[in-house]
Amino acid sequence: MTEILHERLARATRAAADGGVDALFLTPGADLRYLTGYDALPLERLTCLVLPARGEPVLVVPRLEHAAAEASGAGDVVKIAVHEETDDAFALAAGLARDALGGDPARVGVADRMWAEHVLRFRAALPAADQVTAGLVLRPLRLIKQADEIDGLRRAGAAIDRVHDRMGEWLRPGRTEAQIARDIADAIVEEGHATVNFTIVASGPNGASPHHHTSGRVVEPGDAVVVDIGGTMPDGYCSDCTRTYVAGGTVDPEFARYYDVLLAAQKAACDFVRPGVTASAVDAAARDVITEGGYGEYFVHRTGHGIGLEEHEEPWIVNGNDTVLAPGMAFSIEPGIYLRGRHGARIEDIVVVTDDGVERLDTIARELRTL
Ligand code: ZN
Ligand code: ZN
Ligand code: ZN
Repeated sequence: MTEILHERLARATRAAADGGVDALFLTPGADLRYLTGYDALPLERLTCLVLPARGEPVLVVPRLEHAAAEASGAGDVVKIAVHEETDDAFALAAGLARDALGGDPARVGVADRMWAEHVLRFRAALPAADQVTAGLVLRPLRLIKQADEIDGLRRAGAAIDRVHDRMGEWLRPGRTEAQIARDIADAIVEEGHATVNFTIVASGPNGASPHHHTSGRVVEPGDAVVVDIGGTMPDGYCSDCTRTYVAGGTVDPEFARYYDVLLAAQKAACDFVRPGVTASAVDAAARDVITEGGYGEYFVHRTGHGIGLEEHEEPWIVNGNDTVLAPGMAFSIEPGIYLRGRHGARIEDIVVVTDDGVERLDTIARELRTL
């Protein structure tokens, strides 16, 4: 891993220089983990990788986080500078960038999800520097997953598939969505995830709300139930997989009809994925099938999102996104059909673009299952 991180740090340094960004300031989050392996706690005290476009990167950490930073192995790939409770950590980080550059940076990249209070402290510490988002530099790197990352996503996909495979243990009429979701959350960890990110159990009319989480609603016989679940594996890579089930009984015939349309749409989009096509065209591959099936107005969201160290990251699989797919890109294909007040359905898999096509990382059956 150390070798991979050294290589990523070198590439990020080059990308900053090429992009005209003099230094990156990366607080806890996916970018910091990507470059150093350190899954740092976001705190009011500053933890920040200072990555100058020339010279050595340094990780600034508070004294009380020093042991955790060392335990993560970050110290094997970057120098660590410790600040005490009364130090000005922002001045320290700014000074490290100045020392490396031999003067004030003109343009700095701050982590895309850095807290505003930290962004403003950096602005005060480097008043002459323009601030841009670090994503301008790091996005092209993180967009193309390396072999070890694809392995991580593969393991995450297999783990969440095992949870779906066990759905019959928990999902049945007479139980509430919340009870079912709690059991699913336990299984997400049992099957190898470090943390549970979300457990959407949306039964009956709740299935028509794409981001419904759970509620006290009791599942009734014949309900369609959308189950969209994901977690983060110990290595940081995320899973995200949706299947729609029927809880006993007989489902509304219209539901069964549009489920077939959805299944065909999801397959069409997955089959369409290959290097050289745009994200927008993948969205259209799913949307056209649903529109032809007569349900276009009920597919109310984009077809998918990138995934990696974050649940939702680029590329966005959405109409108008001209990003050209390339080997190593990983994202969800998750069309849905939602009939307000009645029911809904979604089918979601994570896929990776290969040299000549696509690999599906979620492989559990997509046909309608009655539990
Ligand atoms: Zn979502
Ligand atoms: Zn999902
Ligand atoms: Zn998703």
